[in-house]
Amino acid sequence: MGMFDSVYVICPKCGGSIEFQSKAGECLCTNYTQDQVPAIIAADLDGDSEFCHLCGEEIVFCAFSLPEFVSCVGLQYDPDNEESEDD
Ligand SMILES: [Zn+2]
Repeated sequence: MGMFDSVYVICPKCGGSIEFQSKAGECLCTNYTQDQVPAIIAADLDGDSEFCHLCGEEIVFCAFSLPEFVSCVGLQYDPDNEESEDD
């Protein structure tokens, strides 16, 4: 079944709410407003377009301030400390 997260952006023409769906994140059917979008989802939706159901205008999803670089570290592998994925 299709699990996805939704981001709702405001239509710049009529002020209506437009839903963009992404499968990039954890896909827990979470709804986000345009002010608080996880970076991975914003990157996935950037440039996508949807039609406003109210006024019919085609709206392009535009993500601001996407991080170009993120911090990573190397960790020693510890099999006893591995997170269980059973639940
Ligand atoms: Zn609209």
